[in-house]
Amino acid sequence: MMAYSLDSSFVFTLVFAAVLVLGLLVKFYLASRQIRHVALHRGQVPAAFAATISLEAHQKAADYTISKARFGMLETAFGTVLLLGWTLLGGIDALNQLLINSELAGYGSLAPQLALLAAFGLISGLLELPFTLYSTFRIEERFGFNKMTFRLWLVDLLKSTLVGIVIGLPIVALILWLMGSAGSLWWLWAWGAWMGFNLLVLLLYPTVIAPLFNKFQPLEDEALKARVTALMQRCGFAAKGLFVMDGSKRTAHANAYFTGFGAAKRVVFYDTLLKQLSPGEVDAVLAHELGHFKHKHIIKRIVSMFAMSLAGFALLGWLSSQAWFYTGLGVRPNLAGANDALALLLFMLVVPLFSFFVSPLLAQFSRKHEFEADAYAVAQTDGKDLQSALLKLYQDNANTLTPDPVFVKFYYSHPPASERLGRLTSLSPNPESAAA
Ligand SMILES: [Zn+2]
Repeated sequence: MMAYSLDSSFVFTLVFAAVLVLGLLVKFYLASRQIRHVALHRGQVPAAFAATISLEAHQKAADYTISKARFGMLETAFGTVLLLGWTLLGGIDALNQLLINSELAGYGSLAPQLALLAAFGLISGLLELPFTLYSTFRIEERFGFNKMTFRLWLVDLLKSTLVGIVIGLPIVALILWLMGSAGSLWWLWAWGAWMGFNLLVLLLYPTVIAPLFNKFQPLEDEALKARVTALMQRCGFAAKGLFVMDGSKRTAHANAYFTGFGAAKRVVFYDTLLKQLSPGEVDAVLAHELGHFKHKHIIKRIVSMFAMSLAGFALLGWLSSQAWFYTGLGVRPNLAGANDALALLLFMLVVPLFSFFVSPLLAQFSRKHEFEADAYAVAQTDGKDLQSALLKLYQDNANTLTPDPVFVKFYYSHPPASERLGRLTSLSPNPESAAA
């Protein structure tokens, strides 16, 4: 089915290079805007927060934000060089030629293809390690957030690699097999398999995967338990359990989440959250999470993920049969054998370059959902509690109060503090008397 065309191959190389450069420029522009904006406002706490946030905390948040943005620029630059190395400079092609000419080829077409994906994963994982290490043990450490020992970090790395192999390898093998044997509509079958796999992981995550990394203990504080249970009943939820997770063994950042489906539903509080917030504030944070469920945000997210991956698989189905897709990215397709792993790999490398440009749209939806969940929390609990909880969380996580507005549009999944708290102030301050 493959027809060689040097022209389309060359055009695709140009498009790839243009999108790569454009994306790089936009990312650098955004990061430098953020750094400039935060540095400019570092000297003074914004008026709306002058009574609640100290100058010291404000400056810590500014320095943390700037460090992360600078480091992000370095990562982006490195990622671009790496991507060029894998594609146009011949990295994937060399690896692929090595494997299809090796003894592995004697075990059928699946073995060298799986080996290609595994080798790629291993090499890029190793190349990214210094960045994870620096981020955890330099940046997070310097601002007092990192609680991990090097040993725990290493154990985590080994465990997550093992989990990745145990659950990732079978699904990748299944998809490669479908690509090779399910005919021209393989992408529809592969999409079905991928969706089934995702649902399975969602289902197993709270009870099987997460406990490999953290301890989950039933919430023991009886007063808080009664309070939280009452809130959930009021909102029409029945959770299988309320748990406290030892998040403090890795980080000082605090969080809470509501997870699982059907009977596996559970509420998880980080121990760091319970330490920082009053019972009323914990209630407000949980009500916010319940708001995401009430407004069907979780289901909407899952359905849009289904739709986007269907489009993705259909596109991959078409691209994988075009020779220019391979040659345009510096890879010689195997004319006699299977190119399924190559197609998958190139697709996963190239798609983020294009999808980056729709990220403002996705971030916008996400911020809208946060506002809706906040409004729900205010209707169910005391709005003052949500305000003070958010203020504590913004401060304890060293989130800057003065992000660059354009940077926010691209990257912020949650509204910045000023907008979010401003919106809360405008909502009814005492909803219980209003409801009564
Ligand atoms: Zn939320």
